[in-house]
Amino acid sequence: MALALSSRHGCVLQSEIRNMSIECSRIGGINLSQGVCDTPIPDAVVRGASESIATGVNTYTHYAGLFRLREAIARKQLKFSGMQCDPENEIVVSAGATGALYCAFQTLLDPGDEVIVFEPYYGYHISTLLAAEAVPLYVTLEPPGWTFSLEELERTVTPKTRGIILNTPANPSGKVFSAAELSQLADFADTHDLFVFTDEIYEHFIYTGHEHRSFATLPGMRERTITVSGASKTFSVTGWRIGYAICDARWAKTIGYFNDLVYVCAPAPLQAGVARGMQELGDDYYIGLAREYEARRDRFCDALSCAGLPPYIPDGAYYVLADVSRVPGSTGKEKAMHILNTTGVASVPGSAFFQGGKGNTTVRFCFAKEDGVLDEAMGRLQLLA
Ligand code: PMP
Repeated sequence: MALALSSRHGCVLQSEIRNMSIECSRIGGINLSQGVCDTPIPDAVVRGASESIATGVNTYTHYAGLFRLREAIARKQLKFSGMQCDPENEIVVSAGATGALYCAFQTLLDPGDEVIVFEPYYGYHISTLLAAEAVPLYVTLEPPGWTFSLEELERTVTPKTRGIILNTPANPSGKVFSAAELSQLADFADTHDLFVFTDEIYEHFIYTGHEHRSFATLPGMRERTITVSGASKTFSVTGWRIGYAICDARWAKTIGYFNDLVYVCAPAPLQAGVARGMQELGDDYYIGLAREYEARRDRFCDALSCAGLPPYIPDGAYYVLADVSRVPGSTGKEKAMHILNTTGVASVPGSAFFQGGKGNTTVRFCFAKEDGVLDEAMGRLQLLA
């Protein structure tokens, strides 16, 4: 038999986001395609990690993470979402939210199990499902409010559907699911007996008039919900790979074992750094973060409007989908390349977030950039006006 890649290799093909980053560095452009925040890391977090390296927190930790970090997560979760969780049995620290989702899908899904995903989606959700040999089913959110219809959900679900992925605030749309929408989804999950995988990595990037609610706190939802979040975005440490899953002890145990299997544990001193940050940073930090990003959102969306690329204004997270109908090109990729070649600013073609040829009239920009970089990008985008 000839040497060949596994049939699974298709789920890790070069992503459009990575492609645009490569194109961008080829021309030395400003990369607003990738969700890498370059805002400063809080001092407490840096000190917590560097002191831990110096004082010897350098060996494997428990596969579910340092206990002090799990305790800090439990306290933070209670404070911000009112969710009680047991740090001993219900929290697993993972290599980023990415690791938590991978391990959760491996733990709870069998090959052929279907999982409903809202589009526009975050591509890793799909690839991670495919890596578990699960089958994504798509329900489209309709702009400008990125609303879903219960009828479409009911048309999509089948007896083989085991779960639904909820990402709030969402990448790329910036949608923050409302209390009413969450309660509809809770009824839906209950009726069809679904697991709810909630990716809440942008929980602290919430803008005026909106509120983040953890799905697990809705009545009766705790047992079926796997809450995933992490430090990447909140503390600007995307490269540290510290995330976590919070869920019922029955699921958490095996999620922890998968964690152990694929990477043993998240980086020990960096877990300690994140624990320190969670212990020492008060409300003012989280409020300041949301304000800072809201100001960036406002400035950037104004610049997009001026450049003739009307934005779908996000209510949370730090991405914006812009309408690029009037930019030359017949596909989203051609339009994103036109923007890159004309202005030197990289974005992601909207088609990367949808199935089957949708999304060709939008591109996504990430505005998690230092003010100087963002100013330069905003200036350059005016070349399209
Ligand atoms: N979930 C979403 C929705 C994201 O946008 C990202 C980052 N792009 C992640 C998860 C990745 O998080 P982490 O760095 O914790 O793996």
